[in-house]
Amino acid sequence: MSGGSLNKFSITKRTLLSGIAGAAATSVLPTWRRAVAATMYDVIVIGAGTAGMPTAIFAAERGAKVLVIDKAPVTGGTLDRSTGQIAGSGTVFQKAKGISDSPDAHYADNMRINGGTSDPVLTRLFVDNAGETINWLAANGFTVRDGHPVMGGGHEPFTTARYQWGMDGGKSIYKIMDPIFTAGVKKGNITLVLSTAAVDLIQDGKGAVLGVTCEDDAGKKQDFMGRNVVITAGGCGGNPRMYYDLHNTTLTAQIMYPFNVGQSILLGLGAGGVVRGGEKYDPLFGTMLSDDNFPAEQTVPFLSDPERRQPWEIYVNARGQRFVREDDTSVDRREKALAKQSGHRMWVISDQEMIDKSPLYVGRWNKQQFLDGFGSHPMMTKASTLEELGVKAGIDPRELSLTAAKYNDAIKTGATDPLGRVHRPVQLAKAPFYAVRMTGWTVITFAGLTVDGSLRVTRADGSAIPNLYAAGEAIGGGATSGNAYTNGAMVTPSLTFGRMLGSKILSWKA
Ligand SMILES: Cc1cc2nc3c(=O)[nH]c(=O)nc-3n(C[C@H](O)[C@H](O)[C@H](O)COP(=O)(O)OP(=O)(O)OC[C@H]3O[C@@H](n4cnc5c(N)ncnc54)[C@H](O)[C@@H]3O)c2cc1C
Repeated sequence: MSGGSLNKFSITKRTLLSGIAGAAATSVLPTWRRAVAATMYDVIVIGAGTAGMPTAIFAAERGAKVLVIDKAPVTGGTLDRSTGQIAGSGTVFQKAKGISDSPDAHYADNMRINGGTSDPVLTRLFVDNAGETINWLAANGFTVRDGHPVMGGGHEPFTTARYQWGMDGGKSIYKIMDPIFTAGVKKGNITLVLSTAAVDLIQDGKGAVLGVTCEDDAGKKQDFMGRNVVITAGGCGGNPRMYYDLHNTTLTAQIMYPFNVGQSILLGLGAGGVVRGGEKYDPLFGTMLSDDNFPAEQTVPFLSDPERRQPWEIYVNARGQRFVREDDTSVDRREKALAKQSGHRMWVISDQEMIDKSPLYVGRWNKQQFLDGFGSHPMMTKASTLEELGVKAGIDPRELSLTAAKYNDAIKTGATDPLGRVHRPVQLAKAPFYAVRMTGWTVITFAGLTVDGSLRVTRADGSAIPNLYAAGEAIGGGATSGNAYTNGAMVTPSLTFGRMLGSKILSWKA
């Protein structure tokens, strides 16, 4: 279950096609059977989301004739659900608070948090240009929450306050881009085609990309010709089968944008590109899933951040053993510990005293809803002894009892906790006992197409596929976030690389 090393060259378009109905048939249709639009576009943008919208906006503002295709009936992509936490240095928001920062410091923090696992060239490109992206949003009316920029929130903190979030998460960013994008459509600089998916790329004999084959919701196919094609069609969070194939791990929670079914990856592979980064998968530190039919719904969030709520409970794995210091303030260390557990599963174990005295460790529910869950929810178990709890919940019952006994003894004798835990308010001793199963989950696709420092999609030998670019999750979250949830290292590079492609694509091509 845990992410093993993937041989990047073993992944082919054919092996991944099984997750997308009809895609195989489309890719072999002869071009002459499809209608071909007469217009030659300067830039064709595949996907009108976080990366695609700025690509189109900036290209159109520079006089390019832009076509934007989106599989969904609306624009915005993942911004409708993203927390939208962004990070950049030298922003107007930092200046207003007198915060001194630099791209070098941002780069160092990014690499420290992900242990140097993001792509150095792309991380550099991202941090060098992120501040300008945030300033562009600000110049168009974007504002941040009171007190921002901050050093962190939810993920491993920066050493400098450069994390800045809009009031309404990703929607705040969409609200800024949408009017500019729509104005471009109204002026005729951007042609927008919705409810239409790019299903193949048109290439010449040398592999240069000449256009895009699309299919609308009614099944009608059409070819669009363009001088440059930018793949910004997101990751594969809407395609659990492909997610598994690329990351060697199950997509446990369905939370990503459902229209992103991995066609970025198929388009790039089909054109001769390469996929990398699946081994960087990192599970977020547990959520309560609705059931075992993966991907499942998230029932309630797990409030595991010790800076917001100190844990009263112990966390155990299926063997009934504690595997992590529950009050470790490093969320990355807790995530990495969970990544080593079978099925990325853990159980939060408490007794009646903990339930009575501590604040709830799940969000959204009140105390009564939480207590009611122990009679009805498949992830919640209650029993009169720890052994019975283990049997009912699927945890080794004998080990669970031993673990609780050791934990209690250490509190009684004042001995140091073997995992270094400091917050141990009460023993785990007063029946009944409670277990809630939490499972690692994610909000990003780590695997994606390889690109060079000009965001050109590259082949296995490192050469660029002429006229083909990619940004956003199409290049994989691992490229800029590495094997961790590095602050703002998805939305910010998506916007930034889109902005840069839109600004520079014509000159890069020259
Ligand atoms: C719940 C959640 C919270 C998050 N919070 C943060 C955060 O706080 N900070 C952060 O940095 N990152 C965060 N992320 C990740 C970040 O939001 C995404 O990585 C980023 O928005 C992806 O941008 P994108 O342009 O690649 O994809 P999208 O914005 O999803 O755009 C892709 C577009 O392509 C379209 N499309 C798909 N297939 C096709 C096709 N074949 N043809 C045409 N169009 C197609 C889709 O309909 C979509 O509109 C979060 C993600 C989630 C789900």
